[in-house]
Amino acid sequence: MRERFLVVGGGTMGAGIAYVAARGGYDVDVVEPLAAARERAAARMQREAERSGDPSDLERIRWLDAIPPSSDAAVAVEAVPERFDLKRDVFIALSRALAPDALLATNTSALSVGELADVATHPERVLGLHFFNPPAKMALVEVVAAPETTDEVLTRAYELAERCGKTPVLAADTPGFIVNRVARPFYLQALRALEGGVASAEELDALARGAGFRMGPFELMDLIGLDVNLATTESIYERTEARRFAPIEIQRRMVAQGLLGRKSGEGFYVYRDGNPGRYDATPESVPADSDSQEIVAILGFGARADELAERLSERYANLQRIENDELLDELKAETTVVVDAGDGVNDRGEILAELDSLLGAESVFFVDAYATDLAVCARRLRHPERVVGYGLLGSLEAQSVVEICDSESVSDDALALAQELFANLGKGAVLVEDLPGLFLGRTVGSIVNEAIVAIAEDIASADDIDAAMRLGANYPIGPIQWGREIGGGRVKRILRRLADSEGDAFAPHRSLWILDLAEEPDEEPEAEEASQ
Ligand code: NAD
Repeated sequence: MRERFLVVGGGTMGAGIAYVAARGGYDVDVVEPLAAARERAAARMQREAERSGDPSDLERIRWLDAIPPSSDAAVAVEAVPERFDLKRDVFIALSRALAPDALLATNTSALSVGELADVATHPERVLGLHFFNPPAKMALVEVVAAPETTDEVLTRAYELAERCGKTPVLAADTPGFIVNRVARPFYLQALRALEGGVASAEELDALARGAGFRMGPFELMDLIGLDVNLATTESIYERTEARRFAPIEIQRRMVAQGLLGRKSGEGFYVYRDGNPGRYDATPESVPADSDSQEIVAILGFGARADELAERLSERYANLQRIENDELLDELKAETTVVVDAGDGVNDRGEILAELDSLLGAESVFFVDAYATDLAVCARRLRHPERVVGYGLLGSLEAQSVVEICDSESVSDDALALAQELFANLGKGAVLVEDLPGLFLGRTVGSIVNEAIVAIAEDIASADDIDAAMRLGANYPIGPIQWGREIGGGRVKRILRRLADSEGDAFAPHRSLWILDLAEEPDEEPEAEEASQ
């Protein structure tokens, strides 16, 4: 027997949810009071079905203009506008209309599911089913457990989500659930950097894309709508009272001025004359046979140093490796470039001072700017103009654009040499102001930290957080896995620098060390006979 699926609200989300439910074989009732909204939604569904599905699925959808007095639906999902009073009235009406064991779900992004459950009869069947926009395409559903939601209800919700072709993850009933909360630093750190004049929105977007994000934070805010994005931040900030979620003034001002992004024709970019171009950080291609004359030394040990040494040796014939700081005196006197590439956990001020005394004034040092405070180092050096800070999160392979620190002391020649070196590795470079932790370090570090907080506060499991951020926010890799690749100690160091400049609200969480634990061993492979 086919089951009935009731959707309340036929707007952006409701229509999309109704469509995926019909595609999953449910008989779907959609309650939408506005005729115009019904027509718009039906036309959108038709287009989607013609493009990616089977238009006959739409025959299972029935439109209603009010919640019926009684319904045999096995599940109801409300997707009316994000206002508690509206949702409360819908829940009261649904409580009366549905059988006591029917699932009662809200698609809210930011309200408390538990508070909605309080107005329903049988609150144990109330939960959040948080679909992502557009529901027909986004694979994720956050299944939100309110305090009274039973396990049996959650199991049914998982089955339902899978039947709709979605990947469910389990989230606690907290502000922003998983995705909206863990993604906050992506926007907030970018806004903070823009407000601080660290680089332009175009450049910061290019850096974020170079680290693997599908879109940069500013182009994404323009797409979402600055007002919608700000409302999510405000709601999470108000409910958590955590200062790290505090909205940034520049965004408030832009919203007040009506600069909302694509929908208003202008946000961080201007859309009135078509799509704005993207900043191109791709380096000019360097001929394969153009061996550089620089005499390069790689300092440090570990995966990052190995990778850099391997890649640089393809370009620089004169490459020396010094894996131990104790062996600095083995450095060739004629060395022109020293790349410090160790594990990035400790401040490298001492080593820099030693290099400064060992080598001639014309040689240049590239230092991991995430781990080391360049401004402090510069004061100790004879030639601070030759120190260039660079930011490489984890492996070189994973990043196509590197941030280079345009510090107060560095010379233009040294910066140019840094850009040339990364271009020789096929990497783009974007100059950023000397912000402690730089831009990508702060952004990715804070996202990883937020994921760790979510685990520590029992909001979700590590696997669910990683799946949620990949499927719900298109991250290239889940934040926990990303943190493992960067290293817990290194993330902690970056965030310590961030917290030292921005305050303890940004301090690294004490559980970051779990990122350095060996991962769970893979499960034993299934016995051979299973496939026979
Ligand atoms: P929307 O404004 O596009 O659609 C809401 C629809 O509900 C409208 O068509 C409206 O006519 C209808 N409606 C209003 N009162 C109603 C009632 N009493 N009964 C039935 N229908 C009623 O809004 P949306 O973007 O689809 O958002 C709906 C919910 O989904 C909100 O809670 C929102 O936070 C959440 N959400 C939105 C997104 C998104 O990106 N848009 C993503 C995830 C979750």
